[in-house]
Amino acid sequence: MTNALINIAYLLASALFIFGLKGLSHPRTAVRGNLLGASGMLIAILVTLLDRQILSFELIIAGIIIGGAIGAILAAKIQMTAMPQLVALFNGFGGAASVLVAGAALVERLLQVEGVGGAVATDFTVATAASGLIGGVTFFGSLVAFAKLQELVSGNPVLFRGQHALNALLGVSAVGLAAGLVMKPEATVLYWVLVGVAALLGILTAIPIGGADMPVVISLLNSYSGLAAASTGFVLNNNMLIIAGSLVGASGLILTQIMCKAMNRSLANVLFGGFGAEAVAGGPSADSVYAGKVKGGSAEEIAMVLDNARRVVFVPGYGMAVSQAQHSVQALGALLESRGTTVEYAVHPVAGRMPGHMNVLLAEADVPYEALKEMDEINPYFSMTDVSIVIGANDVVNPLARTDPASVIAGMPILDVDKSRTVVVIKRSLSPGFAGIPNPLFAAENTLMFFADGKKAVNDLIQAVKELG
Ligand code: NDP
Repeated sequence: MTNALINIAYLLASALFIFGLKGLSHPRTAVRGNLLGASGMLIAILVTLLDRQILSFELIIAGIIIGGAIGAILAAKIQMTAMPQLVALFNGFGGAASVLVAGAALVERLLQVEGVGGAVATDFTVATAASGLIGGVTFFGSLVAFAKLQELVSGNPVLFRGQHALNALLGVSAVGLAAGLVMKPEATVLYWVLVGVAALLGILTAIPIGGADMPVVISLLNSYSGLAAASTGFVLNNNMLIIAGSLVGASGLILTQIMCKAMNRSLANVLFGGFGAEAVAGGPSADSVYAGKVKGGSAEEIAMVLDNARRVVFVPGYGMAVSQAQHSVQALGALLESRGTTVEYAVHPVAGRMPGHMNVLLAEADVPYEALKEMDEINPYFSMTDVSIVIGANDVVNPLARTDPASVIAGMPILDVDKSRTVVVIKRSLSPGFAGIPNPLFAAENTLMFFADGKKAVNDLIQAVKELG
C-alpha cells in the first residue's frame, strides 16, 4: 500500500473517531457513536497490518484471539457497579502497551543504527522517554485505582508526612533520567529505571485519593493513556496512533473537568485533598438534622400519594445501581404513565460512581430517552412536580450544597427535589452518601422516607399501586 493511500485510510478512521466521540455525547446517538468509533478502529488496524512489515501474523492473530476472549468475558460478566474498575484496567493496559512498544522500538532502533554506524534521532528518544514515563504512571496508577475500587486494598486515602516532597523528588528524577536517555540512548537501562520511577510516581499519586474519588482519577489516567499512545505514535512514526492518542488525551481531560465541575471541586482538591481522610469538621451533626423530624411512609401510603399525582419525577442515584432497581423503576414509571401520570427521570451529572452511570442503567431498562432530563433542564420544573421519588440518591439532592457555605459540598449544583410538593426517598437507612454528611432533605416537612433496599421498595410500590385498582 502506498503512503498516500495509507494516510487517506487513517484520515477516514480519524474522522470516524471524531464523529463517534460526538455521538457518544448523547444517549440517543451513543450506540451509533460507538459503532462509528469501532469501525474507525477496524480500518486503522487493517491498514496498519497491511502497511507494516509484519514478522509473524500468527503471533498477532493469537494475541487478538486471547486478548479478545479475555476482554469479551470480562465485559460480559462485569456488574454495572464494577464498571469504573474495569475501565481503570483497560486504561492501565493501554499505558503498559505504550511502555513495552516504546521500549522494544528503542532496542530495535539501536540495532539498526549499530549496523550502519549512525545515531538515534533526538525526537525519537524524547518520544520514547515520554511513552515510558506517562505509560508507567498510567499503568501503575490504574492498578492502584483498580485495587481500591475492587476493595483488594482499603479505599481510604493514604497520606503520610513528606508525601508531596517525595513525589516532587521522583518527578525531578524522572525528568533527569529522561534527559539522560535522550543524551545517551544506548544506555537502555535508563529507560527501564525511568519506567520504575514512573511506577512509583503512579502508585504514590493514586494512594492519597479516596476510593469514591477514583472515577475522576480514572478519567484523568484515561487521558494519560492517550498521551502515552500519542508519544508512542511519534516513536513508531505512525500518524494514526498520534491522532487517536491525542483524541483520547483531550476527551479524557475534558471529562475530568466536567466531573470536577459537577462536584464543585478543583482537580487539585481531588488529587491532593485526601477527601474523606478525616471526619468532616464543622457542618451539622446527623442527630441535630434528623432527631424527631424524619417521617417514614409505607408502600400503601406512598401509593395513595402517587395515585393523586399528575407529574412524577424519578431521581436515581448510586443506591439504584447497588440494588439493580432500574428495571423495577422503569416498570413503576410505565405503570404510572398507563394511569395518566406524566413521568420523567432527572439525571445529575455525577449521580452514581461514574459519568453516565444512571443513563446507562436506565437505557438498559428501556426508559425512553425523551423522559431522561439533565439537571439544568429539569430543575425549573421541580416546583411544578407533585412527587419526586429519590431512589438511592443522596449527595446530588442535598440542599446543604445551597444553604451551608461551610459544607464539603457547598456550591455543588444539585437537583432541587426539595421544591416538589412531596418527596419520597427510598434508601435503607439514614446513612450518608459519598460526601459523608447528613441530608436535611430526609427531615423536611414534605419528605416521606421509605426505608428498604431500592429494588424491593419499588417492587412493593408497584404492587401497592396495582392494588389501588
Ligand atoms: P450517594 O453516594 O450520595 O448516596 C447513595 C445512597 O444510596 C446512600 O446514601 C445509600 O444509603 C443508598 N443506597 C446504597 N445501597 C442501596 C440499596 N441497595 N438500596 C437503596 N439505597 C441504597 O449517591 P449519589 O448518586 O446521590 O451521589 C454520587 C456521589 O458520588 C456524589 O457525591 C458524587 O460527587 C460522587 N462521585 C460521583 C462520580 C460520578 O462520576 N458519578 C465520581 C466520583 C464521585 P443507605 O446506605 O442508607 O441505603
